[in-house]
Amino acid sequence: MQPTTLPPLVPVSVSTETRLAYVLDHFRLAYPGAPAVLVGYAAHQLQVEIAAGNEQFFAGVQPYPAAPNWREWQGQRVPFFFDNSPDKPLLVLQDDKVFIAADIISAAFYLLSGWQEYFSTERDRHGRFPYGASVQKIHGFVTLPVVNYYFDVLRAAIEHVSQQPLQPRRWGSQQADFAAFISHDIDNLRSAWKAPAKAALKQRKLGLFSKLAWRHFTQPDAWDNLEAVAAATAQYGAKSTFFILPSSKKAANGTPNADYRLTPKLRQRLWQLEEQGCELGLHNSIGTSTGQTGIFGKKIPFNATGCRFHYLSWEPRITPFVVTFSPAAAESFIYDSTLGFAEHFGFRHSFCLPFYLFDFSNAEAFGFLEIPLNVMDTTLHHPNYLQLNPAEILPTLRPVFAEVKKFGGVASVLWHNENFDPANTQNGPQQFHEIMTHLQQQGAFFLTGSEIASSISY
Ligand SMILES: [Zn+2]
Repeated sequence: MQPTTLPPLVPVSVSTETRLAYVLDHFRLAYPGAPAVLVGYAAHQLQVEIAAGNEQFFAGVQPYPAAPNWREWQGQRVPFFFDNSPDKPLLVLQDDKVFIAADIISAAFYLLSGWQEYFSTERDRHGRFPYGASVQKIHGFVTLPVVNYYFDVLRAAIEHVSQQPLQPRRWGSQQADFAAFISHDIDNLRSAWKAPAKAALKQRKLGLFSKLAWRHFTQPDAWDNLEAVAAATAQYGAKSTFFILPSSKKAANGTPNADYRLTPKLRQRLWQLEEQGCELGLHNSIGTSTGQTGIFGKKIPFNATGCRFHYLSWEPRITPFVVTFSPAAAESFIYDSTLGFAEHFGFRHSFCLPFYLFDFSNAEAFGFLEIPLNVMDTTLHHPNYLQLNPAEILPTLRPVFAEVKKFGGVASVLWHNENFDPANTQNGPQQFHEIMTHLQQQGAFFLTGSEIASSISY
């Protein structure tokens, strides 16, 4: 997509107070019992005083601030944006006051709000903000939830002045260290036979081709497996969240949507899954993220409270409004779970908890919760993305899950139903089970999207 086709920027100025309030709201979301402590920039009577970074930056429209300064915090090297005094100690503790030398409020606002994507004109061929253009890629910190580290600095400061220990968020009645959100985008239910049939034709194995075609027309497809997917997830005490794609029409640019239709029989099966405790959300078709195509409203046979956009399509200047004003949900969607980089696992907004995106045209937070996507199956093995060996997948992801656990966040994993096909030995059922076993061993509390949304509030 060319920059000229992007919708115009319509930012209003964001005051220091607005940024501070937005960030502190998210701090309380990460540390629900935090006491009221006066945090701010140079003023009298503050208990936690933060060095002001760069006011000018937030009056402008540049996508990137100056390169971050790397500091060590609790044994971890962490990039600090808006850090004007790299030689000063990060924290100066006095009896009843703490100084923080880097502007962690501005840095947290920059990353959480989605500033870089909104102001950047970089988009890939699917209209997405590319990982390659992100500060996470440029400065190499996509697997670190940097905002959580900023909050940990603030936690230490607040604990000092309040003399109260702060606990990160805990999940469920068992007070689990972290939560996990297991979801499946249902793009295909009928196409498992296609790749082997094509290969057979190409190799002129006509006998094999006829056998595959016969099987296709007389037996269920290997990808027509929603019940098996739910059962695989249930082995770990988890409930699947399915994002159903109601559009089977190809997009104008040729990108496929669903290969299935919501037949009465499929509707019955979906209702049955819902009865078992699975959640049904909406997988928004190509074109909906930019408003070119309307979201399917009345046609969907269930009440979706959450959504994810097909191809992780997301136009930062438009899509949050589509989520907010969609007619598909009873009022509007309570949550979205699109925001992860297709090209890399990790933390697109450098935060491992659900959060609220910032609306730059109204200078306030959006009303829906974003449950960021950390790991997508296709990211791990795909010609356009990474090419991890099957044995590398869990070892590669373990440190990411460890970060989520450290800060009481949500580990969000997308595994398409087609990758439960035993024929997939790269990023297939075995790799899914390895991840689930690991999350279970680490003590994750498994929740559906709407369960996460209803347990988060600030
Ligand atoms: Zn999809």
